[in-house]
Amino acid sequence: MTPCAHCGGEVEERYRYCPWCAAPLRRKLVEFFRAHERDHGKALRVSRYLDERHVRFSVWDESGRAEAAVSVDEREAERLARFLGPPRPRQRTIDALLETLRL
Ligand SMILES: [Zn+2]
Repeated sequence: MTPCAHCGGEVEERYRYCPWCAAPLRRKLVEFFRAHERDHGKALRVSRYLDERHVRFSVWDESGRAEAAVSVDEREAERLARFLGPPRPRQRTIDALLETLRL
């Protein structure tokens, strides 16, 4: 049992909404990402749980069923965001140098 942040009523953790004041207990952001054509019919769902501070990735099939899921903590999620972002300038310089040496 934890207290509701809105009304202070005691609430079991399994509830999504407070039974006393109807305030949402789990704040999360959800986004779906379309799969590459090689995985046609599938989708990636990413849920960011703001209060519990983790991100959950799940793979959905075309029937709307989750095939697999994994959660990562915020630190790993930030590392993933850096991995998916544009290469850092220093890495681009090293890549350009390596490309020059191949010529
Ligand atoms: Zn409440």
